[in-house]
Formats: sequence, C-alpha cells, structure tokens
Amino acid sequence: MQIVKEWYNEKIGKKVVENLEKNEFCAKYFKNREEAIDYIKKLLKNYHSIGFGGSMTVLQDLMIDKLAENMGKEILNHNRPEFSMEKKLEIRKKQLTCDLFITSTNAITKDGKIVNIDGVGNRVSAMIFGPKKVLIICGINKVTKDVHSALNRIKEIAAPMNAKRLNAKTPCAETGVCVDCKSTGRICRVTVIMDKKPKLSDIEVLIIGENLGF
Ligand code: SF4
Repeated sequence: MQIVKEWYNEKIGKKVVENLEKNEFCAKYFKNREEAIDYIKKLLKNYHSIGFGGSMTVLQDLMIDKLAENMGKEILNHNRPEFSMEKKLEIRKKQLTCDLFITSTNAITKDGKIVNIDGVGNRVSAMIFGPKKVLIICGINKVTKDVHSALNRIKEIAAPMNAKRLNAKTPCAETGVCVDCKSTGRICRVTVIMDKKPKLSDIEVLIIGENLGF
C-alpha cells in the first residue's frame, strides 16, 4: 500500500508544484524528508543569517535550525522558552531582514495559493516581504482543494493544535474545536492569502510527500 500512497502523493504534489509555478513561485516536489533535507543543506550554504517562523515542520520534523547551527549560520529563532519577551521581539524584527527565512505554511491549495493565519504577524510579514529569500516547506497533509477548504483546515486542525502547543487561553485549546472565539488569547488574528508571488520577493516552496507538522 505504501507504493500507492507514494504514487498518489507524487501526483498531487507535482500538480501543486505546477500550479505554484503558474503563480510565479519557484517550487519543487520531494518524495520524502531525506531528499528535501539534502536540497536544503545545499541551499543553506548560500546564506548566513537564517530566520525561522514558529513551524513544527521546520523545527521539529526536519530540525533545520540544528542543521543550520551546525553549519555555523546565524540563527534567528525566537521559539525558545528561555528568551524574554523583549528578546523574542528583537529576533522577530531581525527575521524580517534576514538572508533566508524558513517556515512552513498552514495550507497550500491545489491551484497553488498559500494560505496562513497568524496571531502576531511576524511569520506572514517575513513570508511576504523583507528577507533576501523565503523558503516555505509544506507536507502533503497541508494541501487542500481550494481557499475555502484551506481556511477550514486551519480553523479545524492547525489553529486548535497550535493554541494547545502555545498554551493559549482559548476555547479550542480546551476542546479542540474552533468557536470563532472573542478571547484575548485568540491566535487567529491575521489572514494572508498569497494568490501569486509578491512582486519583489524571492519565494521558493518545497512540497514533501509526507505528513509533516499540523
Ligand atoms: S478563532 Fe479562537 S477558537 Fe477558533 S481556532 Fe482561533 S483561537 Fe481557536
């Protein structure tokens, strides 16, 4: 059955790549994380300061921050509990002008649109404009039919799980269900849909044929 899954993921992944390219993004498909990491390693050689959005795909599944650290890169990762709020804010601002910003995305549609909802906004800001290059890494589990289903995916899966991960004081962090809350801890505050690559930005998207992040 694995071979059928791989076949399906490749068919869908390559179609998304094709449509991302039509939307002027640079895009590539990788069968698995090992192949993607080999490619990322080569890419990292060209950049010094590396910024990271708060992405479980990038930091936990692929551990690219550790990879970059071992290569002697300047790491701009605010996702460390020992950092003060001031320090985290300073790092978030530096990410906006780093050499390479690496993040995942909440969803990508089959027709090549990139959909995200942020609480602070630093991740989507850096994705759109500022860094010399942006690398967006997306597991096949985050590919959705269209923008409507992308937004549903975020509210039904990604946001409740992120709220739980961040210990946010929101109803979804208790029940796992979005109620479009009005709480002060709400993490869904900024919605960004990239229909096409922003004009002045260099954005590359890697689709990986595995389930990564959430
Ligand atoms: S709107 Fe509120 S309840 Fe819904 S996913 Fe976002 S934080 Fe959770």
